Amino acid sequence: MHMALSKTQRRDFYNGRQWRDKREAIKARDNYECQECRRRGKVAIDIYEPNKNGRKKIKLIVHHIKELEYHPELALEDDNLETLCVECHNKIHDRHFKNWYKPKKNKWADDEFW
Ligand SMILES: [Zn+2]
Ligand SMILES: [Zn+2]
Repeated sequence: MHMALSKTQRRDFYNGRQWRDKREAIKARDNYECQECRRRGKVAIDIYEPNKNGRKKIKLIVHHIKELEYHPELALEDDNLETLCVECHNKIHDRHFKNWYKPKKNKWADDEFW
């Protein structure tokens, strides 16, 4: 078991050069495409908009599949990182939050029992 990282520790990590380099490497590995959109067969990134003479810009986030807070040892592991668009990233975190919230509630019930 690892200790959860504090907000300050996480902020320091995200501001660090190691992470900035890693983040760019992961985006390049993923061809600057949202991996979740790809899995769903959507083309999210690299949309060519002839009217605007260029690519549509979508903000990409490099996401920790196993969250940094609880898995700091995987912070810079390629297998734990993937490129997501903002939309998918928000969805994934909502889902995680719900999954995380439920068992915690059950835990409380146990505490009360004791
Ligand atoms: Zn996406
Ligand atoms: Zn994330």
